[in-house]
Amino acid sequence: MGSSSSSYAPRTIYLDVDGKVQKVLFSRHCSPCDIRELLCSSSKIPRNTAIMVVDPEGAMVSIDPTMPLNTPNSLYKVVPLSTAQLGEREEMFQSVFSQVAEQFTRAFQINELKTEVTSRLLVLEKRVELEGLKAVEIEKCKNDLKRLRDEMDSRSARVNCPCKYSFSDDGRKLTPRRDVPSYPKYTLSRETIEALKKPTFDVWHWEHNEMLSCMEYMYHDLGLVKEFNMNPITLKRWLLAIQENYRNNPFHNFRHCFCVSQMMYGMIHLCNLKGNLTLTDIGILMTAAVCHDLDHPGYNNAYQINARTELAVRYNDISPLENHHCAVAFQILSLPECNIFANVDPEAFKEMRQAIITLILATDMAKHGDILESFKHKVDHFDFANNEHVSCLKMVLIKCCDISNEVRPAEVAEPWVDCLLEEYFMQSDREKSEGLPVAPFMDRDKVTKPTAQIGFIKFVLIPMFETVMRLFPQIEEIMVQPLRDSRDHYEELKQIDDALSEGSSFMTKFRRLEKT
Ligand code: 5GP
Ligand code: MN
Repeated sequence: MGSSSSSYAPRTIYLDVDGKVQKVLFSRHCSPCDIRELLCSSSKIPRNTAIMVVDPEGAMVSIDPTMPLNTPNSLYKVVPLSTAQLGEREEMFQSVFSQVAEQFTRAFQINELKTEVTSRLLVLEKRVELEGLKAVEIEKCKNDLKRLRDEMDSRSARVNCPCKYSFSDDGRKLTPRRDVPSYPKYTLSRETIEALKKPTFDVWHWEHNEMLSCMEYMYHDLGLVKEFNMNPITLKRWLLAIQENYRNNPFHNFRHCFCVSQMMYGMIHLCNLKGNLTLTDIGILMTAAVCHDLDHPGYNNAYQINARTELAVRYNDISPLENHHCAVAFQILSLPECNIFANVDPEAFKEMRQAIITLILATDMAKHGDILESFKHKVDHFDFANNEHVSCLKMVLIKCCDISNEVRPAEVAEPWVDCLLEEYFMQSDREKSEGLPVAPFMDRDKVTKPTAQIGFIKFVLIPMFETVMRLFPQIEEIMVQPLRDSRDHYEELKQIDDALSEGSSFMTKFRRLEKT
């Protein structure tokens, strides 16, 4: 999780060596090979002996940096493997060897490609020198070379990837994906496809695979697959990698990612954004929505900063979480097998990257006031041809989608408040136990569902959505009215809560008087 000093702490296991307790320390960054050697030396057996580790019940313990720890009261034993056991393992070694051999073959193929690229370059240079090339020919040669280079890159990535992608603050690794993703292709019914465009969509009804299929559908339906010349399999692999990099937090999880993406898809239709923005802008909005909370640890920026976590240190307390979501997003896109923008030209990619970063960073609620203020200055003379106006609008749109749960029907919205409070309470409990400052809105002794929602709806949601309504009046009925209804509903609930607590304090006083 967020607290990361532990990732550097050594791990300790205890061995029974000739009846004596032998303590063994190793770093969690050791390879299984290193640990195996260390275990051999600690058990006084030759370094390269094939061994297994067994617990007091005789169960085999895996030898790797995450191996389960034990105590001096439940010692592990290191046992050299017998020849019979080795025989069993031979098959496994054989398979590992053949995989290694395959990697070598690929590496050699890369060398062949390199030689080919170099010799083509030489030919090209010679021809330019001797006869001068026409523009079309130069273009053709360039394309040839680009194709070769891409091929080379993707081969070297395939060779390198098994140990390349380690970036998460808790040491989790991005699993490389080269296979065709296996999530079943759900045929979405007409009904689902229609419902997907609306904020009334029931986001609780679907399993992860189904949400993935819906998101895949959105990219196809919006014309993004065509516009960016995406490989449809790469799109599937990208979405799977995205899902795998959301954690199972009560609130900041893959379903929240789905909600924000689906609301963006809904607003693109409702506000007819395809009529006013470019497809590049639509791709930026959707992709930023999908990526905006990647690898969220479940503890907010205030916690990161106060607890001086690795993320806060890495990003100098400047939007540590949002910077991290963004970095993870581009780490995923840097995997050739997940790069949905692989066929976008580098200059255009650079601009999209910048725009996606701007949008993800804009989701830090610490910037809410500034962004809304800036949008208010533009909205009444909004100009879709003005880049600054459009960029500001995109920031407001992702912000709207990010915090749009209360726009949804009450039965869909309400469980999200429980999820949010569960995450808040997990943080405030931890802050209390670590002696860190606790925000009152996260404190289980101070906040209730109605109090959490009334202020947020009245002072954050309604002012922002009413401002957007000045540009897109059609959102009033579909998005703003549900917010007003929800505010009224929570105000009624609060009155009931207040009456109940007044009643119970009256009863307490009454009983006390009765006793005297
Ligand atoms: P996020 O962390 O999802 O990128 O940023 C949105 C933040 O806005 C959340 O962390 C949360 O603090 C706040 N937020 C979003 N939706 C609600 C809501 O329905 N009620 C309240 N009280 N806060 C919300
Ligand atoms: Mn979010």
